[in-house]
Amino acid sequence: METPVCAETFPIDGCVKSTSKKSKTSRSVESDIESLYKAVPQLAKTFRIIEKIGEGTFSSVYLGEARMRDGSRDMFALKHLIPISHPTRIAAELQCLTVVGGRENVMGVEYCFRKEDHVVIVMPYMEHQAIVDVIRLLSFEEVRLYIYHLLKALRHIHQFGVIHRDIKPNNFLYNRKAKTFALVDFGLAQGTADTQIELLKVVRQKPSQPRAGSSTERRDKAPPKPSSSATASHQSTANAPFPPSSSPTITTPATRKVLIKKSRSIAITAGASTSRTKHTKDLLGIRKSQRPVFSERNLNSCTSAASTTKQTNRTESVRPGDLSNRRLPSARGGPASVRTHKLQRTAQQTFTCSCFQTDRVCNVCLARKQQVAPRAGTPGFRAPEVLTKCPNQGTAIDVWSAGVILLSLLSGRYPFFKASDDMIALAQIMTIRGSRETRRAAKAFGKAVLCSRELPRVDLRELCETLRGRRPSPDDEVPPVTDGKDTGKGSTGKTPAPLPKGQDPTPGEKPWSGLCDERGWDKVPDEAYDLLDRLLDLNPNSRITAALALQHPLFKGL
Ligand code: ADP
Ligand code: MG
Ligand code: ZN
Repeated sequence: METPVCAETFPIDGCVKSTSKKSKTSRSVESDIESLYKAVPQLAKTFRIIEKIGEGTFSSVYLGEARMRDGSRDMFALKHLIPISHPTRIAAELQCLTVVGGRENVMGVEYCFRKEDHVVIVMPYMEHQAIVDVIRLLSFEEVRLYIYHLLKALRHIHQFGVIHRDIKPNNFLYNRKAKTFALVDFGLAQGTADTQIELLKVVRQKPSQPRAGSSTERRDKAPPKPSSSATASHQSTANAPFPPSSSPTITTPATRKVLIKKSRSIAITAGASTSRTKHTKDLLGIRKSQRPVFSERNLNSCTSAASTTKQTNRTESVRPGDLSNRRLPSARGGPASVRTHKLQRTAQQTFTCSCFQTDRVCNVCLARKQQVAPRAGTPGFRAPEVLTKCPNQGTAIDVWSAGVILLSLLSGRYPFFKASDDMIALAQIMTIRGSRETRRAAKAFGKAVLCSRELPRVDLRELCETLRGRRPSPDDEVPPVTDGKDTGKGSTGKTPAPLPKGQDPTPGEKPWSGLCDERGWDKVPDEAYDLLDRLLDLNPNSRITAALALQHPLFKGL
């Protein structure tokens, strides 16, 4: 790789954009930048580091300016990986970018610096907007384009046998004005059996051992980093139909409880707050838009409670997305319990297990070895086969995540699912896709999912239009039902708080009053929901591929 910049030294002083009033944060960014210059002194010869543009548990990304050979100046994104990242993992990320990137909406790489254990990946800088900032402004056409380009990126990486494993809007840069897109962050990527990325053969399908407190499994040797994630995760919840279990909970009588009991084979996430750092920091952008779509009282959802002290045998009482307050057409009723079992029973189980298909975990099962399967990624975007720890995972897991993004974009809610725990995430999925359907799909990939209550599959158009405010909420007429009877249709919640001014397509009007919408949300074609249905196919074996999805009638004319 040839260095794109001349070896001229830039003055380092004033490396941070001068601001009149420097906040604590900007001072800490300054000191981070100084530390980076010290750790990798070669950088100073080439770049003037301007600001920090991204931060997670595993990397910090900076904006750097370089003077090119022809005298022009160019902007670059400098990704500084945390020094304790595994060398093979770093090399694999770099190889994905070099071999696969630079085309088809996949970010490329320009250069890489290393000094001792510090590695800085230099990429072209792409200006972009956080999806949470633009989601309510997007037209249907923009959404169509977005998902088309995301699928294009996926088709491309999947052709190389690369499974990204962390598909979410923060990793798919979007410049709304320029209509440009770029998939970033191969830090979790894995290879398929026939991957063309040599280093992914080394890190291929390395199952992650379930760890206490891990909701976003990441690179090897990642340290739990104390952070201010509590605030971030709370605020980032505001827009989510399904806030995380750890979010502040305000219960209502209408709140449906789902009793989840975990067998040892399910990862335990006690004390998930520290390890959610990565995810919540990824969502830092959300803090900018402190704009709850729903009022406070609607923020109740998924709460973990009653966890026993024994880490391997917790019973959680959770409320998956309190649909009653979200005007979602959904089932109602009493407690339901969700569990997964490996379908194939071991000899040991056959003889002595007494808990199969019950909502307890027997001692025999507690003593069993844990099932290991890759489960990296962000819980709200994890496919059912990841959540249930299916050992055979393929490129279909990225397609599922793309489906979750489309669901977000069509409903205007981001994040859509937000769970701190795999079983909560699965319960949330079942609430939308149906419990019977989930059980059936899980059976196809060798898992038994147990849910004590039937949750009907919801109509995707109805769901999205209701969340978007384009459809009257059933509860405008219907009072909340709390008797646990499952009507299968309609919901029981309160009317959400009005959308902020300027965000509502028809401010001051009932949004469903039939007025046409210049952003096209009044005429979303059936094809959009058909594609959504295929992306969110619970069964990875029948889930549409990115390549086939691009041929979907929704994309006619693109
Ligand atoms: P991490 O592994 O820590 O999540 P990412 O590669 O996802 O790191 O980058 C974190 C953030 O930095 C991204 O969400 C994006 O906002 C920003 N970023 C990364 N690469 C670029 C780039 N090439 N141009 C502009 N911004 C970028
Ligand atoms: Mg990322
Ligand atoms: Zn058992």
